[in-house]
Amino acid sequence: MALQENIRQVQHRIEAAARAAGRDPGEITLVAATKVQTSETIRQAIASGIQVCGENRVQEFNQHWMDGAYQGVQVHFIGHLQKNKLKYLVGKVSLIESVDSEDLVRLIDARAQKLGVVQDILIEVNIGGEASKSGVAPADVEGMIRLAAELPGTNPRGLMAIPPVSHESGENRRFFAAMHQLFIDIKSKSYDNETIINCLSMGMSGDFEDAIAEGATQVRVGTALFGARPPMRVNG
Ligand SMILES: *Cc1c(COP(=O)(O)O)cnc(C)c1O
Repeated sequence: MALQENIRQVQHRIEAAARAAGRDPGEITLVAATKVQTSETIRQAIASGIQVCGENRVQEFNQHWMDGAYQGVQVHFIGHLQKNKLKYLVGKVSLIESVDSEDLVRLIDARAQKLGVVQDILIEVNIGGEASKSGVAPADVEGMIRLAAELPGTNPRGLMAIPPVSHESGENRRFFAAMHQLFIDIKSKSYDNETIINCLSMGMSGDFEDAIAEGATQVRVGTALFGARPPMRVNG
């Protein structure tokens, strides 16, 4: 079965990239980017070793959730966040990776407090400084991490980035390196005692090996696992 073989290959490539960088492969989590996939495909991916699914769209997440497709795995939300849809995510997904405003931090906190849970989040960074992209400017990251650490309902775990679309291999390494530096800076600061900053989510099908070489702890891979998707907006 192609999916099973693809998963095995991506896992091997992650291990090889980690070893080449002198890193423990166990430090790196493969997040399967499951947008547009069916609940059945998600079940097959899980049966073939996927342990974390990354969802972009609340509607698809809700569908798969109702289908019971995520048995035994964690779900991360990696798509553009809409304030009115947060209620479907908080307390259900283990990590919201795409938090990019103070408003969102406060709204997630309020919802989490209402449910009596603490929601793990990442701050999405616009590392390429692109006007069209979501994510906060590097200079604003520390303030957002501090806010999330202070609020009782949110627990900041680190950073996520989607660098500019690259056309040549290796082109994104400088963005990954810049993200790693930011991650190190954020980690070196002190927050409250519960805060542990240990997630750096970056790298997709075309560049996850470079991201691992530059310190990623999570890679989000879709196409290399599931094949090409029909054309669509990534941020929908
Ligand atoms: C779709 C998606 C990915 C995976 O992209 P591929 O190039 O298919 O591996 C990673 N991160 C986010 C936020 C995505 O939307």
